[in-house]
Amino acid sequence: MVQISEVKDPKAKDSSRTAAHTHIRGLGLDEHGIAKKVEGGFIGQTSAREGCGVVVDLIKSKRMSGKAILLAGPPGTGKTALALAIAQELGPKVPFCPIVGSELYSAEVKKTSALMENFRKAIGLRIKETKEVYEGEVIELTPEEAENPLGGYGKTISHVIVGLKTAKGTKNLRLDPSIYESIQKERVTVGDVIYIEANTGAVKRVGRSDAYATEFDLEAEEYVPLPKGEVHKKKEIVQDVTLHDLDVANARPQGGQDVLSMMGQLLKPKKTEITDKLRLEVNRVVSKYIDQGVAELIPGVLFIDEVNMLDIELFTYLNKALESSIAPIVVLASNRGLTTVKGSDDDVKAPHGCPPDLIDRLLIVKTLSYNKEEVQAIISKRATLESLSISAEALDKLAEHAVKNSLRYALQLLTPCGILSQNASRTEIGVQDVEECEFLFLDARSSIAVLEQSKGYL
Ligand code: ATP
Repeated sequence: MVQISEVKDPKAKDSSRTAAHTHIRGLGLDEHGIAKKVEGGFIGQTSAREGCGVVVDLIKSKRMSGKAILLAGPPGTGKTALALAIAQELGPKVPFCPIVGSELYSAEVKKTSALMENFRKAIGLRIKETKEVYEGEVIELTPEEAENPLGGYGKTISHVIVGLKTAKGTKNLRLDPSIYESIQKERVTVGDVIYIEANTGAVKRVGRSDAYATEFDLEAEEYVPLPKGEVHKKKEIVQDVTLHDLDVANARPQGGQDVLSMMGQLLKPKKTEITDKLRLEVNRVVSKYIDQGVAELIPGVLFIDEVNMLDIELFTYLNKALESSIAPIVVLASNRGLTTVKGSDDDVKAPHGCPPDLIDRLLIVKTLSYNKEEVQAIISKRATLESLSISAEALDKLAEHAVKNSLRYALQLLTPCGILSQNASRTEIGVQDVEECEFLFLDARSSIAVLEQSKGYL
């Protein structure tokens, strides 16, 4: 029986992590690798952007293997934004997996396994398949209902008829009822151009054409059961997944005929945990697909913020993983100078809390604090993106916060300021809204001061 199962959109994951950076669209460099002051969504930070541009060239010319990048600079100076821009410069749909060092520690998952999981989230696989499809414009769409043979309530759909105007004439296709779900999901209606995969029956909506909506023969009554019908076209279908998606699909196979489910059934048909053994087996199958030219590996970017939170065991694992033939680009970030290497004997201190053997592998790019005009421009960009109007005085006040405290704090105040101005029926954020936010929310520095003052009373 034809089955259609849902495939997750790899782009949709971790969207909350990248939501603050939706204005970033690459490093904004010209053809000589020089950063324009305002470009690609970036404002300023030109030397770091140019440094990252050189890194992108090294990656593209395959001269970064075994090495990693460290972005070093104060909080809120665009380190995450730069790492994202590196991924964007590497091409469309290149995976970007941002994590914070401390996230790797949990009661449920071994820390090295958590690190490996994120490595695999940052490695993409582009699978290309040529499928035989019926492609045409929908001229009739009727879910045929029949009494439930088991005598239950209501009706069940016995089959679906799609009247299709194809390159070879008008045809009525009688489809398996499970197709109905796919038709509903794709919101297919009369007038749409769709294709139906000949071997799976999966339906994809590809657009709408009003051009032919009236001129065809609704009487045509040729029922062609799939998959035996006449094939009208071969179509290349490209799907992007990550190695982690494949690990999950293989640990919990679900059935189904789409690429991911089928690759998920190649190993074991029963539920298991994601183990090193399962990952190795997935790698083996993936290598086979790559050799056959069916799949292409797309190394993405793994961004690890607060790298000083990693301990010596994780660093050892990281060093080893960097040597692997299937590795993403690793971008580390730190706002610490000389600090203790976690888990080291005698609490050794090292730059950014990284052991010397890792430091040797790093290309270090420095980020600098912003001046007031730069933060004003960044805040104003984010306000436009969030459809918020802000007065010049309010912008100035928020920029003062960004310089005094952090850019992130100032950007975080934007949304509550917007709500306050809306509640007061004002069309733009005014100074009074920023002042009210200052009263309602503490920045990190004031929060520490309050705690210090109230020592012993909390
Ligand atoms: P932390 O050290 O706290 O992790 P960070 O250095 O990673 O901070 P980001 O999170 O990248 O800083 O920056 C904070 C916010 O400011 C984000 O929304 C980011 O997109 C934006 N931003 C930072 N620098 C720039 C810039 N030069 N141009 C435009 N937007 C920027």
